[in-house]
Amino acid sequence: MTVASSPLLDRLQQKLHELDTQHLSRQRRTVSTPHAPRMTVDGRPIVAFCSNDYLGLAAEPRVVEALQQGAELYGAGSGASHLISGHSTSHAALENKLAEFLSPWVPSARALYFSTGYMANLALISALAGKDAEIFSEALNHASLIDGARLARAKLSVYPHRDLQALDEQLRQSHAKEKLVITDAVFSMDGDIAPLRELLALCEQHGAWLLVDDAHGFGVLGDTGRGVLEHLDLGSPQLIYMGTLGKAAGVAGAFVAAHETVIEWLVQRARAYIYTTASPPAVAHALLTSIDIIGSEEGGQRRAHLKDLIARLRERLQLKHWQLLPSDTAIQPVIIADNATTMATGKALMEQGFWVGAIRPPTVPTGTARLRITLSAAHTAEQVDQLAAALVSIEKSHR
Ligand SMILES: *Cc1c(COP(=O)(O)O)cnc(C)c1O
Repeated sequence: MTVASSPLLDRLQQKLHELDTQHLSRQRRTVSTPHAPRMTVDGRPIVAFCSNDYLGLAAEPRVVEALQQGAELYGAGSGASHLISGHSTSHAALENKLAEFLSPWVPSARALYFSTGYMANLALISALAGKDAEIFSEALNHASLIDGARLARAKLSVYPHRDLQALDEQLRQSHAKEKLVITDAVFSMDGDIAPLRELLALCEQHGAWLLVDDAHGFGVLGDTGRGVLEHLDLGSPQLIYMGTLGKAAGVAGAFVAAHETVIEWLVQRARAYIYTTASPPAVAHALLTSIDIIGSEEGGQRRAHLKDLIARLRERLQLKHWQLLPSDTAIQPVIIADNATTMATGKALMEQGFWVGAIRPPTVPTGTARLRITLSAAHTAEQVDQLAAALVSIEKSHR
């Protein structure tokens, strides 16, 4: 049956056509191998520089084995939401482990495990920021923080990227009884680290709480991988820490570590926590192994290797026109600016066997389309050298 004419379909078709002509349509590629730098994509072997598997744990045999063991212990699914009968001993053990992991920086913390980071942010912000509150959100925040703030009933103010003075002014002028500043710790499309020490000082001065989304720092930053708070040695009871477990931890999900009262409120009232099936207990079981590796000496070696690769890439990637952004993290963006050239460069890299994310608006501001190179401890120095050489030569051929 065909729909002869429908305003909805007509509009969607026209919008899709517009995306096409602006080089903004996106396509999925299909991966048929485990997640590692060498993968098979649409049937072809490539080396990937676009994953968030920063420590190379996604295909780590001990983590995979723990997942299998978890399935044997607990079965495939959780069967219900956490507040009904889906909360297993593996979820509880993971939450205890994470709370302990973060305890030096978030005193009297409890941790709560979520199926995804996106949901954690929706749940957290909408449950905490009621109509008497004001949210202060950094301009380059991740979509999940933005959507969480939209869902909350609180007033919303956005402050420009890294602009402490503007935030100070907004906090000063606010009459809200409760204030919540929300920020990425490592900006996901830029790779820079938020000035958290200064942000925390401002929050303390104005009685605001600080929510830090450490999706790209947990497991990667800090001597023992505990993330940005360890890296900067920052702690406060008015900190709410969110870390994801599908990136450096290599599995899936996220957690919030915060004051026990905050966590208890989320359990009672956060809709995106309550009204959804608990993730498979086997996933939480696998994460116990993954967190052990992150905190171990081996985790430290993986982080040291990653650090070497970051320095190596920056040294070799000598570009003339395109701009490698200043970043010390595993996220190394190259700004090309226009959408068509960014796409063409991504394609040229793919033809040479490298998969790098080409990021366009609306994920980044218009006119700042970029390649987002991400490095992993699973990469070799040789692979990094080859990528840098390929990109330098593609830039030459464009000019
Ligand atoms: C990836 C990401 C999320 C979402 O986490 P998922 O577990 O992938 O849903 C949230 N915040 C930031 C900054 C991220 O990069």
